[in-house]
Amino acid sequence: MTEELNPLKIVAKQMKEACDELDLNPGVYEILKEPQQFIEVSFPVLMDDGYVKTFKGFRAQHNNALGPYKGGIRFHPDVYGDEVKALSTWMTVKCAIMKVPYGGGKGGVVVDPRELSQGELQRLTRSFIEQIAPMIGPEKDIPAPDVNTNAQVMAWMTDEFSRLRGYPALGVVTGKPLNYGGALGRNEATSRGCVFTAVEGANKIGLDLEGATVAIQGFGNVGSHAGIIIEELGAKVIAISDVYGGIYNPDGLSAKKVAEQVEETGSVVDFPGSEPINNDDLLELECDILIPAAIENQLTSKNADRIKTKIVVEGANGPTTPEADRILTEKGVLVIPDILANAGGVTVSYFEWVQNNYGFYWTEEETNERLRDMMIDAFNDVYDMHEEKQIRMRDAAYLVAIQRIADAMEIRGWLG
Ligand code: NAD
Repeated sequence: MTEELNPLKIVAKQMKEACDELDLNPGVYEILKEPQQFIEVSFPVLMDDGYVKTFKGFRAQHNNALGPYKGGIRFHPDVYGDEVKALSTWMTVKCAIMKVPYGGGKGGVVVDPRELSQGELQRLTRSFIEQIAPMIGPEKDIPAPDVNTNAQVMAWMTDEFSRLRGYPALGVVTGKPLNYGGALGRNEATSRGCVFTAVEGANKIGLDLEGATVAIQGFGNVGSHAGIIIEELGAKVIAISDVYGGIYNPDGLSAKKVAEQVEETGSVVDFPGSEPINNDDLLELECDILIPAAIENQLTSKNADRIKTKIVVEGANGPTTPEADRILTEKGVLVIPDILANAGGVTVSYFEWVQNNYGFYWTEEETNERLRDMMIDAFNDVYDMHEEKQIRMRDAAYLVAIQRIADAMEIRGWLG
């Protein structure tokens, strides 16, 4: 892999630029440029054929200046150390933007879970947790779901950790099932957070959400709920796509009905009353709000000039390349960056942990209200920095986060 594509180098560069811009003590970058802890483990799993196979796993703990480490664990055949380290760094930034009192962590196991039986998957999950148990815990490091891991996997992780400790430790992992310490509203939290930032963005640029047109790329967990929630606020979702194709209706689709179709058929394609549209054309549609909620690198230097939206809300991680971000900002498009726009998930994960630690559970309305307050505050902190320094929203988000982390390190005496 070339130096420029190494995610750890990319994130270290972002950190360096932010530290320089803020004119911070050089010790801040020195500490933030790589994780405080990183382990690579090899652990045994009894397979269904009666033989033991070993698997490789990682956990990176980037920085705990603001609180315990927090971040997902992915199960993927291609996961590797530098990727996990970089993702843990982005989690530090994301939590700091949101004022969620955590530092960043991330983990991964090199495995294709589709090749395992349910029994093997459970044994693999438990064995990995046993290996990393000394470094995690409700006050230390709190894993969560990520690529190919879900509420069931979180339940096994929590159960294994509790078994090893000898008492129920529900706060060790978030994203758990509702009947085992999960939080109401967690499922829609990322989308709800996206919509709160879209509403704030619309207010800033004087866009009335009532009747505002919305295009959504990707209609999975994030895209579908974002569509349904933004429609409830009066916006008109005119185009939706998934990996199989897209649908368009200038008079408005019903995101709710499209989601019902996806439940039945697995795709948005052929939704009654819609015209087909391909993914490239969807991104270039004239609309007020564009929500990329599928995969990375969708808005690039190749299409950025032709994007005709007023606000981009990055539901997905990394949908806009740096060059496209620059072009869009120059065209006057408000790009709400992923580290802010999709931080609703980690925020409600934090709420889950709070509830687990207190043993007192909130209603969904309480969760949504608290989420709204935190998203609005974070949006405005970033927006104010963007205005004050006349920089992109993404750069502003880094500055807000790194200033907070630097302040915590300073007050704790880490900088001398
Ligand atoms: P998901 O798997 O539920 O849905 C992904 C959707 O994107 C599907 O509709 C799929 O068909 C579509 N898609 C995939 N490839 C596509 C392509 N090439 N063109 C068009 N559509 C395509 O995933 P999700 O949980 O909704 O996550 C979507 C994005 O949001 C990812 O980048 C993820 O990292 C990010 N994200 C998710 C959460 C969360 O809480 N789920 C939190 C933060 C960030």
